[in-house]
Amino acid sequence: MKNIVRCLIFFLFSISLNAQIERVEPPNWWIGFENIELQLLIKGNNIRYSKVYIDYKGVNIVNTHYADSPNYIFLDLEINSSTAPGNFNITLITKENKTHKYLYSLVGRSKTNKQNKGFDSSDVIYLITPDRFANGDSTNDEFNNLREKSYDRANDYARHGGDIRGIINNLDYIQKMGFTSIWSTPLLINDMEESSYHGYAITDYYKVDPRFGSLDEYIELSEEAKKRGIKLLMDQVANHCGVFHWWMDDLPFNNWINYQDDFVNGVPTTYSNHRRTTHQDAYSAEIDALQMVNGWFVDTMPDLNQTNDFMSNYIIQNSIWWIETIGLSGIRQDTYPYPDKEFMSLWANSIMVEYPNFNIVGEEWSLNPLLVSYWQKDSKISGDYKSNLPSSMDFPMQNAIYEGINDNENWNTGLIKIYEGLANDFIYPDPQSLLLFSDNHDMSRIYTQFDEDIVKTKMALSLILTMPRIPQIYYGTEVLLSDKSKPGDHGLIRTDFPGGWDNDTSNGFDNQGLSETQLEMKNFLMKLLNFRKKSNAIHKGKTIHFAPINGVYLIARTYEDEVLINIINKNEDPVKLDLQRFDELSLNGSYFLNVLTNELILWENEIKLNKKGSYILNLQKP
Ligand code: CA
Repeated sequence: MKNIVRCLIFFLFSISLNAQIERVEPPNWWIGFENIELQLLIKGNNIRYSKVYIDYKGVNIVNTHYADSPNYIFLDLEINSSTAPGNFNITLITKENKTHKYLYSLVGRSKTNKQNKGFDSSDVIYLITPDRFANGDSTNDEFNNLREKSYDRANDYARHGGDIRGIINNLDYIQKMGFTSIWSTPLLINDMEESSYHGYAITDYYKVDPRFGSLDEYIELSEEAKKRGIKLLMDQVANHCGVFHWWMDDLPFNNWINYQDDFVNGVPTTYSNHRRTTHQDAYSAEIDALQMVNGWFVDTMPDLNQTNDFMSNYIIQNSIWWIETIGLSGIRQDTYPYPDKEFMSLWANSIMVEYPNFNIVGEEWSLNPLLVSYWQKDSKISGDYKSNLPSSMDFPMQNAIYEGINDNENWNTGLIKIYEGLANDFIYPDPQSLLLFSDNHDMSRIYTQFDEDIVKTKMALSLILTMPRIPQIYYGTEVLLSDKSKPGDHGLIRTDFPGGWDNDTSNGFDNQGLSETQLEMKNFLMKLLNFRKKSNAIHKGKTIHFAPINGVYLIARTYEDEVLINIINKNEDPVKLDLQRFDELSLNGSYFLNVLTNELILWENEIKLNKKGSYILNLQKP
């Protein structure tokens, strides 16, 4: 009995000691990275000026940094590559001579993670807004301890209950459609008062939003996707956090976020001017350039100061922690030109050094190819700036395809926009690694952009899937989701996928209740996506295109003996296409299969294009 009491006293005593250390981040680490340094954020009540000890072979304390707040220590460690995996105590002895201990884990690295192959032009990415895709677990729709209690499918800005389980349940569907990668918008916790469903106001960088599921489910998603040959991308946000991030009540340093004093006094006073050209503009006023990167994106998203080295380490280690924990194949980085750009260069490089086959795509929402090119690794026009970002999002081509298909044919409008848009590829160090899309979670859906014209929608998608790019398609495009009632409204763009909820009146997964046009689009995409999976000509072929004439544009992709041709025909009435102009392709007398209609076509003299649309032709071997 005496022993039990003693144990109990000891147990309670230990709890009171550990209670002093609220968190250590990253919450665990690995042995075997190229970079053997690790910087831990330690948070605990009044721990500043503590002496820190670790007694574990192969782990050395290099430096102990005390923050501006009395409640943080940043601890620099070196982890020898021959260190054995295991747990050790981090011991703090405070200036009042109190002892605190925290048990920390070092794990051996999975050998496969290092080789994780990033998404590339052989892939097609399915972009999902997880709250709106499928509700696989209705027990996690609402939590009393979170700020927003708004589960309401009738409200476009409330939570709709979609989750990680919903994605896992439909991986077979995604695979069958022919997608080979998934980019889900952020799954980390947004404990915000409203509109938390979008995910870009993260309030804890190490926590999955419980409304989306658990960390174990996130790992399960990755493993189940991998089994189906599907790569997983994580959407990360280095520029800003949510205003209810846990550290906002007690910021470690006086310069942890930008315009911190303004915030402390109430609301932020300086917003970003969004003038992203200040990065390249030789005439830019300093005040504009500073406001661009340091101003807040919106008042619920404090702007992180990545020029603070501790913040910089925090974000880099956080990204690596997720890649290693989940086994990711790629990252999509939000608002790429908004954080400190020297930091972004370091961030991307730190990841690519640890994962040489990985891929990262950054968002620069500009229609100017010069700006998009500037951010891609090895750009010839970035001056002294060395970007390490492998892939950039191709907004210029997205817009050119829209205008090219939608606008009337004239000397300088219509298909010429696509032709000249693709000609701009000379400005990119690696155009094939750009991410191309017809729409995404921030834009009106492609079907709505074309005023619900399915032929135009298919033409645009056919180009996205055959150009030298990495294509991305927004979930629900296959069943013609639309935001026509309020075009461009963000809540509506992110409409629920039909069939993702019990008792939905139609079901995009099993086709029940779909209209003829929805089925037509779904079959079109499934056919083209599954064809694309095996087409080396599309994945890595040479590109030749011919200037559009009389509303017809032809783009050819060739790889060894494979030839894939996409003819875009804007004529409503049948036209004859004289093939002589394409003699340099040396195709005379060969047979092509129309990938969409299974028609066999002889390539000789002329071919007849009966209606408006895309003719996707694959050379048949003799
Ligand atoms: Ca749910």
